[in-house]
Amino acid sequence: MALTYPCSYGKKRLVCTNNKGVKIITKRALILANIILILTLVNPTIAESPFKRAKAVKNEIKGMRKDLSKAFQAYEDSKIKLEKLNRAVSNNTAKLQNATVDLKRSETILSKRINSLYRYGHVSFFDIIFEASTFNEMLVNMDFLIRVGKKDNVVIQKVKRLKAEITTAQKHLKADRASQRVNVKNLNEKKGYIDTKLSKAKKQLKGLEKEIKELSKPKPLPPPVQQQITAPSAPPAATNGNYAFPSGSPYGYSNDWGAPRGGGTRRHQGNDILAPMGTPAYAVTGGTIGSSTGGNAGLWITLRGDDGNAYFYMHMQSVTASGHVSAGQQIGTVGNTGNALGGPAHIHFELHPGGGGAVNPYFFLTSIQ
Ligand SMILES: [Zn+2]
Repeated sequence: MALTYPCSYGKKRLVCTNNKGVKIITKRALILANIILILTLVNPTIAESPFKRAKAVKNEIKGMRKDLSKAFQAYEDSKIKLEKLNRAVSNNTAKLQNATVDLKRSETILSKRINSLYRYGHVSFFDIIFEASTFNEMLVNMDFLIRVGKKDNVVIQKVKRLKAEITTAQKHLKADRASQRVNVKNLNEKKGYIDTKLSKAKKQLKGLEKEIKELSKPKPLPPPVQQQITAPSAPPAATNGNYAFPSGSPYGYSNDWGAPRGGGTRRHQGNDILAPMGTPAYAVTGGTIGSSTGGNAGLWITLRGDDGNAYFYMHMQSVTASGHVSAGQQIGTVGNTGNALGGPAHIHFELHPGGGGAVNPYFFLTSIQ
């Protein structure tokens, strides 16, 4: 149909363009298009199969696992760096504290020494100069004092430089540590994001695998062949309530119950329903079919009715049902087997109320005709 042309949805109709121009497709075609669309969505053989989707998800999971492992590695590396920085900052803090203490101590020592030397000490600068017995001794003493002062000063300068160096290093370390902390946090978030995505994909895969399992379950077998044979090959007979006439049309019968049979004292135990050879025979009511063959009856059917009565069909040409049947279902075809052989085809029909002895079925037959 026109669906092969480029189509688009108009206000209420599907509009398809053919070579000759614009063609408006009827609502019926629109419904058809919708049915095709629904079938495509519902039918897994038309839509993308769960096998294909599962394969795609599996590949996705594989990729995500790789990503996650990379993110995890990066996170771990970053964490190790941060730990190193933490340790460095901590070591440096200790160094800085030591340097501060050293500096203070050096400064205190120098200050004390200067005080003791020049102000309150037992030795004064002048003492050293004037107590010297020789000029040379005086020079030596002065040189000693100067060198002590210089040496202390060198130590102080050294400590000061070290303190400044440590302070600068500490500043850098703290900055590095701060950025590394952000790095670790970002990497952890990335790892978490991939992890969540991965678990979602895993869940999806689980669902798809369930779907695949359902699809690969063996499908129920088609109905057995026997059932197909027993299905009515002719349209079911018109039913009169729960009952149907035992023969298809045309047929004829009379009230021939009790008529003499076989030239002796034997009397007719049913009604003969005459019909052309091969006419369908129907279940008068729902019940269970049994059949057997032999003797006067030829091929015959017993119908144990759900109503509690038994019905016999004799001289059948064929039996086409078994097991439980419903009213009006074909159970065989009319024939002339048994002692009817050579005569006209008919059903010798018997009615056994409650499954007991036969009674005249005539009025029953007329009531369900
Ligand atoms: Zn008969």
